[in-house]
This record gives sequence, C-alpha cells and structure tokens, in this order.
Amino acid sequence: MGNINQNITEYLERRTRLLARPDATPPLQLFGPVMLPLAAPKGTIQTQWYVWQSSLGDVGNPVSMSPCGPALVIGDLHRKNSLPLVRMHIVCVTGDVFHSERCDCGVQLNRAIRQTVQHGIGVLLYLGDQEGRGIGLYHKAMAYALQQEFGLDSLDANLALRQPADARSYRDAAVVLRFLCDRPIILLTNNPLKPESLEAEGISIRSVRPLWASITPHNRAYLNTKVQRFGHTPEEGIM
Ligand SMILES: [Zn+2]
Repeated sequence: MGNINQNITEYLERRTRLLARPDATPPLQLFGPVMLPLAAPKGTIQTQWYVWQSSLGDVGNPVSMSPCGPALVIGDLHRKNSLPLVRMHIVCVTGDVFHSERCDCGVQLNRAIRQTVQHGIGVLLYLGDQEGRGIGLYHKAMAYALQQEFGLDSLDANLALRQPADARSYRDAAVVLRFLCDRPIILLTNNPLKPESLEAEGISIRSVRPLWASITPHNRAYLNTKVQRFGHTPEEGIM
C-alpha cells in the first residue's frame, strides 16, 4: 500500500503545475490533462481536460480558494499549419445546463465546441466562477426578476442591484492559455472587450471570429442590449 501511495503522489505531482500570476497573488494550480470524450452528432470527440484553481494546498489534497475553471483542448495546439481557435466561455447555469432561451450562452457553447472540432485545433476555457457577468448566480436571478418586473435591460438591472455592469476577469484564463499554447490565436467572440482584455494579459490575437446564436423571441432584448450597450458586433436581425 505504501508503494501505491508513493506512486499516486508522484503521479499527481507530475500532472500538476504551478503557474505564476502576473501579480503577487498565489499561483494557479493546473491539473491535467485528463482524457474526456464528448458526445457529438457524428461520433465521439476526444478532448484533453485541464482544471485550474488558486490553491494553497498540496497537489494530492488541494485547498480551493476559488472555483475551478476547466479548459478543454481539442487537437494538437502546436500543429504548425493552423492557429488555435480559442473561446473564453463564461459559466451560465441557466443557459449551459437548462438551455434557457433568455440568453444565447448554451447555443454559443455548443457552437464553439463544434467550430473548434471543424477547425481542428483549439481550446475552450470555461470560466466557472463568473456567472452573470461576474455578479454570481444569486444576483443574476435578482437581475432577471428586475428585467421582468420593471422592464430594465441587463445592464441597468445590474446597476440597480449596486453590482458592476461587467465584473468579468480574463486574467487567470490568460495565464492558463499562455501555458497551454504560447502562440497567436484566433478568438471566437462578439465582444470587443474580450480581445482587448486578453491582449492586455499578453495574449497575441491574430484575428477575431464572431460566434452567432439564433435569435428567439425570448433572447432578442438581451441580444439587443449586448449590441447597443456593450458594443458587441451585431448579428443580422439585431439592431
Ligand atoms: Zn447565459
């Protein structure tokens, strides 16, 4: 048993890396890869799953200080003849898990994975601790209620709750991305702040590709707000 325990500890240490952050906060602990097959319409997609967190624990018994953000790697990120397609997806329990039509997150998540598989190489970074543009799930539910009851848009609803309009941070995800593939990327996004924020974190962006979701009667107002008040690239059919 002693030998197995020793082997397990050594194995976990080999698979764990400490990634320094640009400031003096504790380093990120990155574990992986773990093989993670995904169900897809044309068969199984093989991905390599990494997980990261800020931690003060040892590798076999990590003490989480912040929720984990997974990264899914598709293909060989160092393949010479094409650049990796990268999507930074913010967790959205209602959209990603329940397929809510109030927003476009679930559709964007699925399309991002599909497009990356078609492209051949890329990374999906899932920012698991920034629900509701960073205000958290509890405040997001309140913001939805204010939109329903008082006709506020998603930005004013956040402000009415004394929450920031957009509290997202891409800093840790950028640290992980630089470790996984330190080369220029193609970024999947409609949000002009994302390439700006990532470039400020040292990511080289060769080009930006929009990622459309379908417009429905339930998400039209939400998508309009993204375009008109957050400066997102407009999709056809959105003002
Ligand atoms: Zn959403």
